[in-house]
Amino acid sequence: MSIDPGALHPDLWAAKRILVIAPHPDDATIGAGATLARLAAGGARVVVVNVTSGDRGTVDPAMEPERLAEIRQAEERLACQHLGVTEVRFLGLPDFSWLDERQVALALLGQIRQEAPDALFFPDPWLPDEGHPDHRTVGMGAAAALVAAGLPLVGAEAGQAVPSPFAVMYATSRPNLYVAAGPFWDTKLRALRAHESQFPGGLPDLLMAYWAEQSAQWKGGDGPKEALRLVSALLMHMAPQIEVRKDDRDGD
Ligand SMILES: [Zn+2]
Repeated sequence: MSIDPGALHPDLWAAKRILVIAPHPDDATIGAGATLARLAAGGARVVVVNVTSGDRGTVDPAMEPERLAEIRQAEERLACQHLGVTEVRFLGLPDFSWLDERQVALALLGQIRQEAPDALFFPDPWLPDEGHPDHRTVGMGAAAALVAAGLPLVGAEAGQAVPSPFAVMYATSRPNLYVAAGPFWDTKLRALRAHESQFPGGLPDLLMAYWAEQSAQWKGGDGPKEALRLVSALLMHMAPQIEVRKDDRDGD
């Protein structure tokens, strides 16, 4: 029996169709903006799906949710334009409303089956300190939809089965791929500035400086990087990925 190594070790840069799942209209930029810009510049089709409309993401008590949803949609369109995203979608579910995971998973299953992507980006739902329920629920829903994508008897109402894409988790504390941003760091900064209602004034520059400083400690050469976790579809179910520490290997 021979196993295609690509099935276990996916190559992000060979992916031609990228589907990005974002709980809110700024998460794709924050989580993987430079990587997405690099993929788009390389000719990949990049589709961003915003699950909620981000209509509660404000500290201004005078802001109306409907108005905020409009602002955030316009900001996301501009940010995605900067990143070179092919298409941006809005599912319009309510922000911070303790979403139903089954509803989210079925909606995302429909997106996967429509798009048949090679790679599925979503926030790591197993991030230990994640306190925002939208990030946990959307991440879990995306992971479930990925596993279900190829099973025709599961969620038949969400469309015809397609091969499961590999997972690319952003906002992860367990990265296994460090992407050197190169010129796309500035692209990410421009996209972040587009989210003015979330990051006013000099906040984008401050955040980018902090992220660049943080990433200087990571592998993968000089310059700012993004940290991601790639997992093949085969390893997204019942596959304990036990990382052997150096001390364990050495037996001391
Ligand atoms: Zn978010």
